[in-house]
Amino acid sequence: MQSTYSHDLVLVHSDSYANWILRSGHPTQGRRFTNGRDAILEKIGTTQFNARVDIRAPRLATRRELNLVHTSAYISEVLDDHRTNDWDGDNEMLAGLAQTFAGGTLVALDALLQGETRLAVHLPGAKHHAQADHSSGFCVFADFAIAAKICVERGMKVAIFDFDAHHGDGTENLCADDPNILTFSVHQFSPAFFPGTGASSDESRHVYNVPLPRGAGDAELMPAVGQFLSLFYEFQPDIVFIAAGADGHFSDPLASLEFTPGGASLVASNIRNRFDGPILMGGAGGYQPDDHTPEMWASTVAGLMGV
Ligand SMILES: [Zn+2]
Repeated sequence: MQSTYSHDLVLVHSDSYANWILRSGHPTQGRRFTNGRDAILEKIGTTQFNARVDIRAPRLATRRELNLVHTSAYISEVLDDHRTNDWDGDNEMLAGLAQTFAGGTLVALDALLQGETRLAVHLPGAKHHAQADHSSGFCVFADFAIAAKICVERGMKVAIFDFDAHHGDGTENLCADDPNILTFSVHQFSPAFFPGTGASSDESRHVYNVPLPRGAGDAELMPAVGQFLSLFYEFQPDIVFIAAGADGHFSDPLASLEFTPGGASLVASNIRNRFDGPILMGGAGGYQPDDHTPEMWASTVAGLMGV
């Protein structure tokens, strides 16, 4: 494959991500990130396509970057006191990892903005529940909202597609008032299912939600992709972010959707085929760290690479 880009995929990763363990037995286990990296490389490596993959180290997000969407008091609570409501007591390592997760997404974004690749992936990215002044749903800093604001500062328009099993409430809340950012979330919905929001859209603010019932599968997911892509004619995004949560997988313990790896790949290839510009993918949720979560992510990346 010939292209004008120096890399087919920039993957931002650090083996330190395996230390992201909020507590033992918690559904979020950091080894899913190293397993995800391995699954992606294996999936790409088994094809005829000789992909040029560059694996890059993350960096710490700066306070100025975090301040694009988070309050100074909350940033200080995490970076100075090492506290959030997602872990017990003060934990300097987790606080540092949370800051690195946000920075890692910005390293991925930078590769896209520099024109080095048209696909950048950061598996701990798309922390879509984090709010301006508190963590939520295992998400400390809202990296996608920060990255979107940075794009807007550069005069770009951003469209965010979120097919994690849960509503992307944080990203939506932090971006809804920006006319240059479109958020689209397809998710399992009931008032009792976390976070209990995302039942309706607000098109005047480019906020789109597709609530699905328990048991919805690929057949319900694909029309949502079509709806997202139909918005492009009017919105004309310069960059697309994908929150590729793997917890829609049919056997995920935290949700009751029936998505498959093939469905995730089809989502990705549909977006890639319609949009030739830069795509940033974050891993969002996924609670089968040793098998199906890495498998879903690898399938999504393969779809985005057309392999
Ligand atoms: Zn989720």
